[in-house]
Amino acid sequence: MYIGIDVGGTNLVAGLVDGQGKVLAKATCPVDKTASAEELTHQLIQLSKEAAGKADCPIKDIQAIGAGIPGLVNNSTGVVIKTTNMPFVDTPFRAMFQQEIDAPVYLGNDADCAAIGEYWAGAAKGYDPALMVTLGTGIGGGMIKSGKLYTGFGGIGMEVGHLITKQGGLLCGCGNHGCWEQYGSATALVRMTREKMTQRDDTVLWQLCGGDIQKVEGRTTFQAAGQGDEAAKEVLEQYLDELAVGLVNLANILFPEVICLGGGISHAEDALLLNPLKERVYSGCFDKTHLPKMERASLGNDAGVVGAAMLCHVV
Ligand SMILES: [Zn+2]
Repeated sequence: MYIGIDVGGTNLVAGLVDGQGKVLAKATCPVDKTASAEELTHQLIQLSKEAAGKADCPIKDIQAIGAGIPGLVNNSTGVVIKTTNMPFVDTPFRAMFQQEIDAPVYLGNDADCAAIGEYWAGAAKGYDPALMVTLGTGIGGGMIKSGKLYTGFGGIGMEVGHLITKQGGLLCGCGNHGCWEQYGSATALVRMTREKMTQRDDTVLWQLCGGDIQKVEGRTTFQAAGQGDEAAKEVLEQYLDELAVGLVNLANILFPEVICLGGGISHAEDALLLNPLKERVYSGCFDKTHLPKMERASLGNDAGVVGAAMLCHVV
């Protein structure tokens, strides 16, 4: 039995996971924005015990614990180096955990954990190499090759969101201009949709957000396009072009056997997302005899928990 921990900006989740990647029990709580790194780590320890308790699994039967962290970790030292929007800075996560639970503790980046989860038990199972791309606030990436996670020099590889797809483009949080995530993330889709709305008052997008442009989400655009709205379809065309640029680059460099797409946007219907995206990506692929499969992630929010639990097998 394994414990997988998903440290999200909104919720903390610990899950008891078996060797096949099946989640047997979960414990969760909202993130207290005022809590310190020590307090959050202590909560994660309690959630881990709670998840094991829910399935009557004694702590001594836990073979390994893994944690997916939204930030930079050093798995060799067991330290969380830094996180975005969370208080973990040089936090000795493993040492703190092991004061209370006697089990090996592994640390991973959250995007890597999502990739491991889908590879172990989801839509990327059976493929090698398997590339996962998560479309959210930014764009996260993770790749598993020959059963091992590719982490690059220093353990922070596969930062696919910072591929530069537009020279001299928009300023990114990383300090560079024109990063892919400024054009292909869910945040970017929302920005592009809002820009279009300010130019068009005849679009159904206005009705779908109740006249409040701040209420526009990624799915609003897909919903409007599904209803045949021209403005939304124009936004989507542009968005899919931007998304495809990064995917073509990744496909031509890495030659993954599968590209698994995750994040809220990936739930859009095939006719609006996966099919037109495939067409664009395949037309840009260097070798038409080795086209990657393109799949929608299948584990949803559980991918992070499953992947974290299986870190011990892939790092
Ligand atoms: Zn960037």
